[in-house]
Amino acid sequence: MSKGLLISVSGPSGTGKGTVLDKVKQQDPDFGTSVSVTTRAPREGETEGVEYYFRTREQFMSMFEEGEILEYDEFVGNLYGTPTIPLQEMSDNGTDVLLDLTIAGSMALKENFEQSVTIFLLPPSFSELENRLRGRGTEDEAHVAARLEMARQEIDYAPRFDYVVVNKDADEAARQIMSIITAEKCRYIRNSGIEKTI
Ligand code: 5GP
Repeated sequence: MSKGLLISVSGPSGTGKGTVLDKVKQQDPDFGTSVSVTTRAPREGETEGVEYYFRTREQFMSMFEEGEILEYDEFVGNLYGTPTIPLQEMSDNGTDVLLDLTIAGSMALKENFEQSVTIFLLPPSFSELENRLRGRGTEDEAHVAARLEMARQEIDYAPRFDYVVVNKDADEAARQIMSIITAEKCRYIRNSGIEKTI
């Protein structure tokens, strides 16, 4: 059986990754989800084990040292990491997994897994990004400013990704991601020898 794809979507925060990924999952509910570990505090409405596993920095680092976290990154003062075993199990079982990672996270995935597919989600413009960050209302001004500054630096990394999608409209962006996944699944390398089986 061929391994499930590890599809990682990165992009500046406020670009709408969460919404777009939810729409992709609605179009195909069979995607697996990787629940990350984080040292940030839960936001209102977030539940342990659903959005994240919430851990202290000490607990996080000891998980990393034990090999339980395969990649991690620091984002606006907090650590975020991908648990190793669930991701490997899902991919080994042929399940395609969608991941919402920082740029460094997507790069780590690309280095370590040949079944990875990295997608950079771009906002339509900086002014739109700023509106979305402020409109979200969950961050204070300092965090909005930090995220905007980070966005300017992050956009320079787009060329290192396999694909780029501009999120003008979340439904259209989700459709484009589905098309990317469909094309990736048809790559000969992922179906090698199939011509001998027909
Ligand atoms: P938030 O605090 O808004 O939920 O997430 C902040 C950032 O952390 C997002 O850009 C998200 O992509 C990233 N993130 C979430 N989980 C992981 C992870 O396991 N690894 C990495 N590298 N980034 C993550």
